[in-house]
Amino acid sequence: MTKSFLIKYGEIGVKGKNRHRFEEALRTDIDRRLKKCEGTFRVTREHGRLYVEGLTDFDFNEVVDALKKCFGITHICPMVSVEDKEIHRVLAVLTQHMKEELGDRSFTFKVFAKRSDKEYPMTSPEICREAGEYILTEMPNAKVDVVSPEIKVYVEIRKKAYAYITSIRGLGGMPLGTSGKAMLLLSGGIDSPVAGYMMAKRGIRLEAVYFHAPPYTSDRAKQKVVDLAKIVSEYAGPIRLHIVNFTDIQLAIYEKCPHDELTIIMRRYMMEIAERIGEEEDCQALITGESVGQVASQTIYSLVTTNEVCKMPVFRPLIAFDKQEIIELSQKINAYETSILPFEDCCTIFVATHPVTKPRLEQIKKSEQNLVGTVEEMVEAAIREKEVVDISS
Ligand code: ATP
Ligand code: MG
Repeated sequence: MTKSFLIKYGEIGVKGKNRHRFEEALRTDIDRRLKKCEGTFRVTREHGRLYVEGLTDFDFNEVVDALKKCFGITHICPMVSVEDKEIHRVLAVLTQHMKEELGDRSFTFKVFAKRSDKEYPMTSPEICREAGEYILTEMPNAKVDVVSPEIKVYVEIRKKAYAYITSIRGLGGMPLGTSGKAMLLLSGGIDSPVAGYMMAKRGIRLEAVYFHAPPYTSDRAKQKVVDLAKIVSEYAGPIRLHIVNFTDIQLAIYEKCPHDELTIIMRRYMMEIAERIGEEEDCQALITGESVGQVASQTIYSLVTTNEVCKMPVFRPLIAFDKQEIIELSQKINAYETSILPFEDCCTIFVATHPVTKPRLEQIKKSEQNLVGTVEEMVEAAIREKEVVDISS
């Protein structure tokens, strides 16, 4: 008898010929996470299932917490497995497991059996019947309820016999690294870490870029972004963070462009630089934390104007989210407390009192003409002199 876990995954199952690649990606991510837990484990794959087996003692909660941060897993089922598949041997182990989990409380149950070993001498309905009777005899507080049982008892006869009664919800999504790589524009705010998390949930690997404006922004503001990247990387895996000094560009814009257009023009340069770094790093898209209507720079007109500088698709997973919904997600991934630390953001320092909400591209481009001749080298220098921090949780 072993204490181990059955790992269920959702969408991977429909991937046809690519299925193997998705399953291997999931296995790799699980392996990586378990290496950080106490104990040794074996992860095996069998017919569209993954099993995590504890080979030594381990801390149950630590392992469940690690698996709960792994994209691609829909359910984590603590289970018992028995090599000797003789039915009474299996049922003895199962009821022992049930007693440990449920104590002597009253409960209703139903047995679900699956038999993929077709050589097995019993059919699934026979296994159900036998298991039901066994449980009723062994556990006097148990009652059968086939309509809405409190406890669903699963018995599976495969290479070994497996049994479980609990199913812990996983994050869902796709395994890390199965959908390419994108460059996240990561600020110190609430939104962009959540946006990065959401895209990583679909299997995208993240790189990140942060624009700061020393000495107008502090080292603490920068550290906050590093901390946020670390929080996101607990889910999204290692993240390379590019820290770009934006001071000269921002000052030039401040000096030479109309103040009500500052944010838009600044945003356009951020997108351009992010895309340039993204191209160098083999990213296929950009990600921002924008949500339509949230602030002046996120009206649909502003989004169109910023978008215009990029060739890459820009993913904005929060586009239709209310602030409250974003905050709830931010809390769920444990980023909120860090995000609300009150350090200055490079956008808020040079921000206009009355920013345009309906910028016209022609007008913005005309204003940008004032920068021609000076800004190009500043952009080159900003990219050349960026700092790179490799972040992993
Ligand atoms: P956030 O909460 O993510 O900071 P926000 O509501 O403050 O977003 P804006 O400041 O308008 O909104 O920024 C919109 C998006 O632009 C951010 O979600 C982020 O993707 C990007 N961005 C803004 N400032 C920076 C920065 N200093 N460095 C990198 N990306 C930035
Ligand atoms: Mg912000």
